Amino acid sequence: MRIFITRPIPEAGIKLLQNNGYEVVINELADDRPASKEEIIVALRQARGEGKPFDALLCTLTEKIDGEIMDAALPQLKIIANMAVGFDNIDLEAVKARNIMVANTPGVLTNTVAEHTFALMLAISHRIAEGDKFTRAGLYKAWGPMLLLGSDLSGKTLGIIGLGRIGSRVAHHAVKGFGMKVLYTDLKPSFEFENQFGAQYIQNIDDLLPRCDYVSLHVPLLDSTRHLMDEKRLKLMKKSAYLINTSRGPIVDEKALAQSLSKGWIRGAAIDVFENEPKVETGLLKLNNVILTPHIASATEETRNKMAELAAQNIIEAFEGRIPPNLVK
Ligand code: NAD
Repeated sequence: MRIFITRPIPEAGIKLLQNNGYEVVINELADDRPASKEEIIVALRQARGEGKPFDALLCTLTEKIDGEIMDAALPQLKIIANMAVGFDNIDLEAVKARNIMVANTPGVLTNTVAEHTFALMLAISHRIAEGDKFTRAGLYKAWGPMLLLGSDLSGKTLGIIGLGRIGSRVAHHAVKGFGMKVLYTDLKPSFEFENQFGAQYIQNIDDLLPRCDYVSLHVPLLDSTRHLMDEKRLKLMKKSAYLINTSRGPIVDEKALAQSLSKGWIRGAAIDVFENEPKVETGLLKLNNVILTPHIASATEETRNKMAELAAQNIIEAFEGRIPPNLVK
């Protein structure tokens, strides 16, 4: 069995595949950039032409895996293992038409993404990036009673949009660690969660937004969530509120966000994901009341190792005739 890995990933995942006796081919890219569609297709077709076709494709969220790529590895391709929990980069309609399995890496990154969400929430509300810039620029001349005033988390209301694995972990930290009140919206309520954390379900996001001091997005990117936070909804937030996005960029209308921050419809935002990655809306780059991180919410050594291992494990299970633990249905 042969596996094509679209770009270098942590060694732990590669070793796991090799230790199970499988042949791994890594698409070595000199400058750690995403593989292009053409590069992937050429590699897959070439292997097939040489009589050594690939049985599995291990990819990351930077590769858009469409029917053409799948066809380049058929009829041999059994599984596409995405090293990410989101799988909006894979054309699931094309998958359905072709009898290929798709798996993702949920759970192992939940804590890390929840931590990053809090890192962003604290950084924007306590003006950490602004303060750092200010100090480095030599502008710190004396302590000031009004210098760089921010906003507390304790006692405030956090709105969680999407109470799945990551959303509920963020809610846990908010309630247990910061004494925040949690409101949440999802497709359905979780009474167990409500009892445990004193959280309140608000079915309609439009009713939740005006009540929150912080709003954190944790829904997957779907047709129903694209531009979930548009101009109208940004205007429903409190002027003093902050928006945090560690889910997927297109869930927020980035132009409207830049406008809302520059016009003061909301106080600040901190985002890890962008609408057209790696591009960033130029309006955002000029603003001080936004923190931007380059899609690193799951980027700790421990978690990236676990993600690589889980992606590999999904492949191993498929090769051994079992259903991969994280099959995307
Ligand atoms: P999950 O599936 O456990 O949770 C998603 C939740 O959203 C579910 O409870 C679901 O019911 C809810 N939901 C779906 N559609 C909705 C809608 N229209 N309105 C309200 N709720 C809706 O997923 P997770 O593991 O918590 O991950 C969430 C997302 O975070 C992933 O899909 C991924 O895109 C993103 N993510 C980003 C990073 C990063 O590096 N920034 C890392 C991991 C995950």
